[in-house]
Amino acid sequence: MSVMQDAEGVIKYSLKHTQKSLDASLFYKEDQYHPYFQELLEARFLLYKLGLIGQKQDLYGGLAYGNLSSRAPIVPKSPAERAFLISATQTGNIEKPRKEHFVLVTKWNVTQNMLYSEGERKPSSEALTHAILYETNPNIQAIIHIHSSILWNHYRDLGMLATPKEAEYGTVKMANEMVKIAEKQDRGIVAMLGHQDGILAFSSEMKDALFLILEVFATSEILFNHG
Ligand SMILES: [Zn+2]
Repeated sequence: MSVMQDAEGVIKYSLKHTQKSLDASLFYKEDQYHPYFQELLEARFLLYKLGLIGQKQDLYGGLAYGNLSSRAPIVPKSPAERAFLISATQTGNIEKPRKEHFVLVTKWNVTQNMLYSEGERKPSSEALTHAILYETNPNIQAIIHIHSSILWNHYRDLGMLATPKEAEYGTVKMANEMVKIAEKQDRGIVAMLGHQDGILAFSSEMKDALFLILEVFATSEILFNHG
């Protein structure tokens, strides 16, 4: 068992990880990428191009930032139907991630801060937040977490929801604040004020979660980024 930490060194959760190659059926359907995985890769590529997922030497101690996940179609459906596929830890710097850069989170226990995963790498340090959202609202199918100081600083003007500054990232308080939002709605975009530059979008579709981010990104470019 290992303990996952983020850039700031906050302990997020205890991880029970099984090192293995994931079944091809998680990624492919009839010799093509499975539609949900194709959408995840397309969203990831665009977010990387925009610098919303990535790695910059002068930010966050040079660590990679941003992650995304999607509920995974698995057979048999139960009890693993809650399982989701998430980007692996420290892969934000990879321009075109492949299937080995994703991890299957098979189960979790929020009260015990426990997460179980399988794959060639370990999951993002922020995977427990994704798990909490999936657990709270069964209609949520896709989650994107990006970092942007412009979006974060102007969250109010951009019409975003927010979790309070005192709800620090990786804490029970943060989780409770996210639950309050996700139990009321199937889609949303939230500035996490207790997590520097952290923005999270969730929806019943990956394309829509991406849209929520692109919408505020485009607005911020018009309003605040005049070079
Ligand atoms: Zn983050």
